[in-house]
Amino acid sequence: MPLPCDFTALAAPGVRGLTPYQPGKPESELKREYGLDSVVKLASNENPLGPSPKALEAVYACLPELARYPDGNGFELKQALSTRLAVDAARITLGNGSNDVLELLARAFLTPAHNAVMSAHAFAVYPLATLAVGATLKTAPALAADSAMPYGHDLAAMRALVDDDTRLVFIANPNNPTGTWLAPAELEAFIASLPAQVLCVLDEAYGEYMSPGQLPDSVGWLERYPNLVITRTFSKAYGLAGLRVGYALAHAQVTDLLNRVRQPFNVNLPALTAATAALGDAAYLAEAVALNRSGMQQWQDGLTALGLGWLPSAGNFLCVDLKGRSGRELFQRLLPKGVILRPVDNYGLPGHIRVTLGTERENAIALAALGEVLAAG
Ligand SMILES: *Cc1c(COP(=O)(O)O)cnc(C)c1O
Repeated sequence: MPLPCDFTALAAPGVRGLTPYQPGKPESELKREYGLDSVVKLASNENPLGPSPKALEAVYACLPELARYPDGNGFELKQALSTRLAVDAARITLGNGSNDVLELLARAFLTPAHNAVMSAHAFAVYPLATLAVGATLKTAPALAADSAMPYGHDLAAMRALVDDDTRLVFIANPNNPTGTWLAPAELEAFIASLPAQVLCVLDEAYGEYMSPGQLPDSVGWLERYPNLVITRTFSKAYGLAGLRVGYALAHAQVTDLLNRVRQPFNVNLPALTAATAALGDAAYLAEAVALNRSGMQQWQDGLTALGLGWLPSAGNFLCVDLKGRSGRELFQRLLPKGVILRPVDNYGLPGHIRVTLGTERENAIALAALGEVLAAG
């Protein structure tokens, strides 16, 4: 039946031009397609430990309450974060993943008359959030491939794109998919250089994995820079990607605005409960960080043996330099072997592939499969 009208033509102009986010290929899909029993998925920067036992226990315990709405203000989780970070609860916005808070920022501050600035090769959600509300996206070129931080954010180039109509600047530290990070002093100088009406959105999704020298005192900066917004998540080091919980730390006035546009119950009950419990499980976090460190070494040793390179990474993943090979083709050839990595051609990096650091066993399986594919030419 012919459509009585062209709905695409009816869509808001910003929505018409969007390309949907491309998630990592799900394990279940690969098992179905190739009839495989076991699959190693190192494609979505998930925590290879599985959830914290304390978080799991808290989820089971809350299930009888599922007929009730969750606490729309997330009181307990905010209290726990407030105590942990020494930040007033009035500065905290909870989100259905930090993805949600990024969208709230776009809805609260961007209009078709405004623009947001980001770096090339930065996280794909920034363009989606910006374009969906009809705002303009300005993308700064990244640092050169032969610089000390190849493909990393070029703060001077980003600053040069800020104009009177800029309302948001997105910075991922470290960035996904490159893994690159910013020196704390340079980052602070950048924030200090921004006009008062430009919000700096500092995405610290992988902050827990950073070493003490890499990690800035960004929470301490909040008092000094009212235009700073920090976003964080329970999806990575806290191992709760499936539940969707993240948060923003910002000035109380900015927080109030974000809370006006969010859904009343944007974070569900098991998510609130699990995140509060996970925050209290220091042993789990320490284990996750330690496993990440040894996984980083295992991958770097393995990649060296295969003659491959990688971009410097402060996260739980490596952006592997395939030395002229196609990341998309390698991704395809690894699938029948039951290994899912993440091609990053959609990020302007066709000669790289992103690998999440897994358990020792997962890393060994993926490295062996990678070796077989390379050997086959
Ligand atoms: C994974 C990731 C997030 C987190 O997304 P959630 O919605 O919290 O799961 C945010 N920013 C970056 C750069 C990421 O890689």
